[in-house]
Amino acid sequence: MPRYLKKATPKTFADSAQHDVSDRVRSIIDDIRARGETAVREYSATFDRWEPDSFRLSDARIAELVDSLPRQVIDDIAFVQEQVRNFALAQRASLTDVEVETLPGVRLGHRHVPIEAVGAYIPGGKYPLTASAHMTIVTAKAAGVPRVVACTPPIRGEIPAATVAAMKMAGADEIYLLGGVQAVASMAVGTDFMAPVNLIAGPGNAYVAEAKRQLYGEVGIDLFAGPTEILVIADETADPFTTAVDLLSQAEHGPDSPAVLVTTSEALADEVARLIDRILPGMPTKDFAEPAWRDHGQIIVCDDMDELWRVGDSLASEHVQVFTADPRQALDRMRNYGALFLGENTCVSYGDKVIGTNHVLPTLGAARYTGGLWVGKYLKTVTYQEVLNDDSSADLGRVCGRAARVELFEGHARSGDVRAWRHGGEQFAW
Ligand code: NAD
Repeated sequence: MPRYLKKATPKTFADSAQHDVSDRVRSIIDDIRARGETAVREYSATFDRWEPDSFRLSDARIAELVDSLPRQVIDDIAFVQEQVRNFALAQRASLTDVEVETLPGVRLGHRHVPIEAVGAYIPGGKYPLTASAHMTIVTAKAAGVPRVVACTPPIRGEIPAATVAAMKMAGADEIYLLGGVQAVASMAVGTDFMAPVNLIAGPGNAYVAEAKRQLYGEVGIDLFAGPTEILVIADETADPFTTAVDLLSQAEHGPDSPAVLVTTSEALADEVARLIDRILPGMPTKDFAEPAWRDHGQIIVCDDMDELWRVGDSLASEHVQVFTADPRQALDRMRNYGALFLGENTCVSYGDKVIGTNHVLPTLGAARYTGGLWVGKYLKTVTYQEVLNDDSSADLGRVCGRAARVELFEGHARSGDVRAWRHGGEQFAW
């Protein structure tokens, strides 16, 4: 039986749709539908103290912002975008079109067609999440999306220059300084200043995630990517200091970000708890990390490796770092996670910032039914079919007539009958 050295009540999907967030988001979306740009302006002023003449940045303003950045920042953005692009293109190449003859003369196929217009949400309420621009926009362009609209909020009333540079370098076609529900709703329903998109991708806080959830159907969404989570699965070989540092690396995202250690080692559990208490007070980002650890942090001690994998998998965490003697075992032992980080030589921060896998990942248990953002989320897999000769069509027509009549669909049956008849079968009475 797992024992809890530190216990918290895990957040669930239902918590995120809690009434205050859910009702607030619904009323903002309804208002934007009714009053369009006027409402968008009011919410931007209220939540972000941002009242520009135009939410869309001109090419000249973007160029100024890019020029204001140190060369190293631009070079690092280019480096990371290249890693994200290389992996996304390799994944795209793995998606081959299919065309197969399933019966003599019957040809079926599928193709992967890029979505026409995508909205990329790049969060920025607390931190300028520059890397989210690489993840959402570079990947959309690798998929072949022709129009990518990108939105990010101003941060404490300022334009996040590095994020804008990353949006531009990633290939965004339109860049807007607009955040939260007002950005998501504008992209979904369209406003005077922005034509609507077909799918919205990107992470965000509880308001952003809930807005995407409520608008799903009217617009596509990538996945439910809310406040970030980290799980470390460790045995007695793990380094306690690295484990403590990595748990806190994700707790700093926000006061609602869970960090969880599951281990077979009581000694490691004790030492990590002690180190976290020591490191936390000195963290510059402790205003977020402290409440996150206090309210959502957990340390769970398991009896053996079987229990370790079982408990770890049951949490369906967004990020899972594996610090065990043989970390690749996780590939066989685990099913529910957004991304795995195998061994102490890598970490969630590499995935978040540099390595090239996508950091937009499922939260709140959504990892039970989906993986993270990837090039395939921007593609529609669509089918086609063709019957190459009259005899094949007549054969199918006879089966179609019978199968449709079992379902009492006379109209469907006649489409089959007419082909069977035209190609030499019996004529039926109309
Ligand atoms: P954000 O851009 O998601 O949200 C900022 C916006 O929230 C503001 O523009 C404002 O309009 C809106 N807002 C704030 N308070 C509001 C209120 N009371 N009512 C209505 N709207 C309000 O930026 P953030 O807040 O810094 O959050 C970023 C989030 O993204 C973090 O929780 C982080 O963990 C998460 N994240 C998740 C992933 C993932 O893949 N799951 C990846 C990166 C980041």
